Amino acid sequence: MKYRYICEVCGKTEILTPEEAYLAGWDYPPFMGTYGVVSARTCPDCPIIHTAWAALMMKHKTYMELTDNQKETIRRIRGEPGSMMPGQSEE
Ligand SMILES: [Zn+2]
Repeated sequence: MKYRYICEVCGKTEILTPEEAYLAGWDYPPFMGTYGVVSARTCPDCPIIHTAWAALMMKHKTYMELTDNQKETIRRIRGEPGSMMPGQSEE
């Protein structure tokens, strides 16, 4: 089963199995975090400090203070794993 992995920081997208994503260094469930629960969703190259999770938990921002991209990330996380199915369009 392949899923679509989107880096919330740089926007990089790859279609991978969970094992491939984990071995490549993606921070994504089920190995890092839990489907539907907000945590970092990043590629192997990006720091978590720019994630929606870090904005909420480390910088103590409210949802309304997040960037549009960070809000979109949270909407996507709440729809997991369905939102990770390849072939679904972004909007
Ligand atoms: Zn990235």
